[in-house]
Amino acid sequence: MRTLVTGGAGYIGSNLVDALMAEGHDVSVVDNLSTGRIENIAHWLGHDRFHFVCDTILNRDLVDHLVAGVDLVYHLAALVGVKYIVDDPVEGIRTNVTGTEIVLEKAYKYWKRTVIASSSEVYGRNPDVPWREDGQSVFGPTTVSRWSYAFSKALDEHLAHSYSLQGLPVTAVRYFNSYGPRLDPNGYGSVVARFITQARAGQPITVYGDGCQTRSFTYVDDTVRGTILAGTVPAAVGQVFNIGSNREIAIRDLGAKIRDLVASASDIVHVPLQEAYGDHFEEIPRRVPDTQRAVRVLGFRAGTPLEQGLKKTLAWFESLDS
Ligand code: UDP
Repeated sequence: MRTLVTGGAGYIGSNLVDALMAEGHDVSVVDNLSTGRIENIAHWLGHDRFHFVCDTILNRDLVDHLVAGVDLVYHLAALVGVKYIVDDPVEGIRTNVTGTEIVLEKAYKYWKRTVIASSSEVYGRNPDVPWREDGQSVFGPTTVSRWSYAFSKALDEHLAHSYSLQGLPVTAVRYFNSYGPRLDPNGYGSVVARFITQARAGQPITVYGDGCQTRSFTYVDDTVRGTILAGTVPAAVGQVFNIGSNREIAIRDLGAKIRDLVASASDIVHVPLQEAYGDHFEEIPRRVPDTQRAVRVLGFRAGTPLEQGLKKTLAWFESLDS
């Protein structure tokens, strides 16, 4: 199959590219390398089934040309993560809303099956955990920038749903705290990367708040498998899926686990949320997916145990030293 991966040089995108290439597909990538890294796809450059364009998905003519030439679109290009958005909300909204609008417009024009990457952020601070796909989005005020990521991803899903009503075969996937090789080695954007980097350097492991907040960390191979299934299982069309592990862990326990894994002498310190994120930040206390729909429709379960995934992730960080 000929596939297009927008954001294919990014952390999840490049892992998806590896899986698609391994399955023998023809893979085109468009990525402006804003947060994606050429190192993530360098091993495919020059391969006759791999094509890379360094540009933004806001380039309408380019996206038109690329979508026209493939059978299936995986749209992952985005300014990802609340922290990036808080740093540059205008750019975040432009990339995440206008970019998706362009990709879906072209997918509709050429009638191409499409998967759009969304986020567990769309549940906001819904207290009704675990979150089912038909659960509520509970967002804070529009004057607080951290919510613009959730709003932008929710709007992307609305767009996808609207195109789906017009017949476009489109599926949305909501990622839950994916981690694994190719996370930003500087630790930006993911607590797993930050804790590994801190533990390896013997620096304090910075747990924000009391550390009782939980997340459901999902190893990237599982994230990728769920994404591929969303693009290939016929019954997935027109639906949205949680793609995440249902193993919930408190952040302070994650800190201890990573410190033990690295055999580090780092202290675990607590940093007030306000100091970490500034005023007006709202922490999500629990983030856990209901996984029944993914199991039922996609036959998907995020099966990698946390300990095993962390070991593989650590091994990748260590490989960067050599
Ligand atoms: N976190 C932390 N220390 C850090 C970075 C993050 O305690 O150095 C916490 C953060 O407050 C959140 C969780 O780890 O509760 C996951 O953060 P991440 O940025 O990885 O993803 P999020 O789920 O917040 O989008």
